[in-house]
Amino acid sequence: MKVLVCGGAGYIGSNMTDMLTKSGHQPVVFDNLSKGHKTAVKNAEFVRGDLADYNLLVETFRKHKIEAVMHFAALIEAGESVELPLKYYHNNFCNTRNLLTAMEDAGVEKFVFSSTAAVYGIPQDIPIVEGTRKLAINPYGESKWAVERMCQFQRATGKLRYAALRYFNAAGAGAGSTLGEDHSPETHLIPLIIQAAMGKRADIKIFGTDYPTDDGTCVRDYIHIQDLCSAHLLALARLDDETELVYNLGNGTGYSVRQVIDVVKAVSGKDFSVVETDRRPGDPPVLTADASKVIGELGWKTQFPQLETIVETAWKWHNENPDGYPD
Ligand code: UDP
Repeated sequence: MKVLVCGGAGYIGSNMTDMLTKSGHQPVVFDNLSKGHKTAVKNAEFVRGDLADYNLLVETFRKHKIEAVMHFAALIEAGESVELPLKYYHNNFCNTRNLLTAMEDAGVEKFVFSSTAAVYGIPQDIPIVEGTRKLAINPYGESKWAVERMCQFQRATGKLRYAALRYFNAAGAGAGSTLGEDHSPETHLIPLIIQAAMGKRADIKIFGTDYPTDDGTCVRDYIHIQDLCSAHLLALARLDDETELVYNLGNGTGYSVRQVIDVVKAVSGKDFSVVETDRRPGDPPVLTADASKVIGELGWKTQFPQLETIVETAWKWHNENPDGYPD
């Protein structure tokens, strides 16, 4: 299938592009390179473009005979979204509305959307099932939920077939540890701890030690990037038969910030300084997935569920690419 991968030069998008190519699909990457890396795009056509550019989107759909869209192009920092809510609504909601408009006008129906566990806010029951109430506590989660709602309504018109995949914490490096995580600035826990282990930063800071968890730090469900991407392939195939798919993507196992630090210390064999600081705004205490729906309905199987393995792939990539991607 010819698939437009919006945000295909980013961390998750580049891994998805690689997997699409290896599975016999023909991905076309559409990315404005505001966050992504051109060098992370391998074996795929590349269009430099912005989702605000309606004309370029329609032209790209027609020129490449695009049959489906996977959409990873979004701002992803919960903390930043609290400071800059309008930026998040603009990028994550308005630009996706533009993308869906261009899809409708070009007659492209299939859409796989990167959603997030942040749509749930602070859920009462853990692990989280998909039907849990959506009460996001930050503009990031709310902007993603607004897109899901838009997809629900657009699907009801008969012009959209969509999958909303709610990611827990994507981590690790894919494609034999050749496609890693390189954000600028980096805000994600595992790459930051690895930078501390490599001596590239003075310490790792723990944001909050007074959460209602066993050790007082936030608990998250880390999912290997390749496992995350394999669920997208299954969802894309299922859109032949279904018009609406909504799934959590996680391993179901929670690790606290302190536990993740300990795993990186064990995998790397390095010690480094750990500094306890205040909470980061917008962080729910615990997010772990009940992923039984995607396992049961799509037959999703994870290959790398162990946090140690996830961290090993990330550690390998960061050591082989100490300065990240060259661009
Ligand atoms: N975190 C931390 N120190 C850091 C970065 C993150 O303690 O330098 C915590 C953060 O508060 C959250 C968890 O690690 O509880 C995961 O954060 P990340 O930004 O990686 O992902 P998120 O869960 O926000 O999507």
